[in-house]
Amino acid sequence: MTYIDPHIHMVSRTTDDYRRMALAGCTAITEPAFWAGFDRSSPQGFFDYYRQLTESEPARAAQYGINHHCWLCVNPKEAEDPGFAREVMSLLPEFLERSNVLGIGEIGLNKNSKNEMTILEEHLAFAEERDQLVLVHTPHLEDKRKGTLLIMDAIANTKLKPDRVLIDHVEEHTVADVLDRGFWAGMTLYPETKCTPQRAADIIEIYGTERLWMNSAGDWGDSDPLAVPKAIVELRRRGHSAETIRTATLENPKTFLGQSPRFDAGDA
Ligand SMILES: [Zn+2]
Repeated sequence: MTYIDPHIHMVSRTTDDYRRMALAGCTAITEPAFWAGFDRSSPQGFFDYYRQLTESEPARAAQYGINHHCWLCVNPKEAEDPGFAREVMSLLPEFLERSNVLGIGEIGLNKNSKNEMTILEEHLAFAEERDQLVLVHTPHLEDKRKGTLLIMDAIANTKLKPDRVLIDHVEEHTVADVLDRGFWAGMTLYPETKCTPQRAADIIEIYGTERLWMNSAGDWGDSDPLAVPKAIVELRRRGHSAETIRTATLENPKTFLGQSPRFDAGDA
């Protein structure tokens, strides 16, 4: 089986994880810029992070035959100080030129604060001006539905087309709103908390596979870089067709990400 993990934070994973993912059939990944488990103390910290995302991770992934791509932004967890965030954003134009960058992400909201919203709107304007694909982070737990609706309203105030925006971390109570408004939706799989492979299978059984993908969001915290293959096993156990599984874990990521000529699924 061949699959794509379209949202995983490999900067916090070991080389062994690349090996295990390759053995499980992963041929391509995309890594959104996010919080690295600590607040960076200067824009220079982001400069080095963007170098890591565009230089060292692609080289590390290539050792295992995995094509590495990334998304760049100031994540909402570190966007509480607009002056600092704008300084970091001034680095983006230069890095957007790099060959594995697919667009702007993961932008969005974390605590639904006013400052986060200001910086989200500035990222959206930036993406609109440069016709970039967008990958969106939605808040976890109790703020999720409210934050998801706020983000979709902010996007609706731009000329960004919904089919060029993926809204990630959807769950049972947000997926219908996201799909109804024409966006792509991502399910983030976690070992126990939030959306598990079992809940993702339930969501596919209710909503189908159109414009829906799944990812591991493997990062510095409790997470599982093999979450997508585990969901594949769960779907297979429930008797879903090879076509359904392939659509959710390979074809849908290819269709959305393939809107960037830089995306290479690596499954030829
Ligand atoms: Zn993430």
